[in-house]
Amino acid sequence: MACLTSAAVGLFGGTFDPVHHAHLRLAVEMRETLGLRELRLIPCHVPALRGAPGASPAQRRTMLELGIAGEPGLLVDDRELRRAGPSYTVETLAELRRELGPTVPLVWLLGLDAFAGLPRWQRWTELTAFAHLAVLARPGAALPQDAPLQSFIAAHRCEAAVALTRPSGGLWFQPASRLEISATAIRTAIAAGRSVRYWLPDAVEAFIRREGLYCPPAPSTRLETT
Ligand code: ATP
Repeated sequence: MACLTSAAVGLFGGTFDPVHHAHLRLAVEMRETLGLRELRLIPCHVPALRGAPGASPAQRRTMLELGIAGEPGLLVDDRELRRAGPSYTVETLAELRRELGPTVPLVWLLGLDAFAGLPRWQRWTELTAFAHLAVLARPGAALPQDAPLQSFIAAHRCEAAVALTRPSGGLWFQPASRLEISATAIRTAIAAGRSVRYWLPDAVEAFIRREGLYCPPAPSTRLETT
């Protein structure tokens, strides 16, 4: 797709436990391709639909800051970390719409795996009242054929270039690099003592090692006495 020019703001939410090179590469690529004036990475506080993250909210925010350091146009928006309770995207989008005004196009970016689970999100059909949805392909993820999602797609699908002339309401499948990297694979490799080099920025890996994140607790060295 040709590079678009818009004053749109991109929003990329996630657990970022930890942030990795697929998140960061897609963020840079989307900023360029969609001509976004900025792209905000939005770490969730309490993920509504999964178990507790391995790293604390503050550690996940620090890893994001390390990951985007020096990259113009990318920023960390920590509003969900400052909000108590589960992080509902619809509330985040409503708040951003109030802050940024009624006319700026907002684009919520999400991987196909996340999009496939959309009908489990709080007030999911209202998301497009506040923003556009741009769905990024992800290796191993497929579009489910369930009726609610299919009719939602049919109601909102449009070209990115057309959508970006409006503040919200559109949905499209965004061509992007396919990178087979996941935070789960990173956490698993660290727990198993394997290398995670090149899956994530060196500064993020150094932070993980320094904080002892994702390692199983060391076995007790206490000697049993009889
Ligand atoms: P986990 O393995 O813990 O589920 P993750 O790698 O999916 O983590 P998240 O922080 O949960 O990372 O993802 C944030 C957003 O980034 C989601 O919309 C997810 O679909 C998307 N995403 C993450 N990795 C990729 C990838 N490799 N390709 C495309 N989208 C991705």
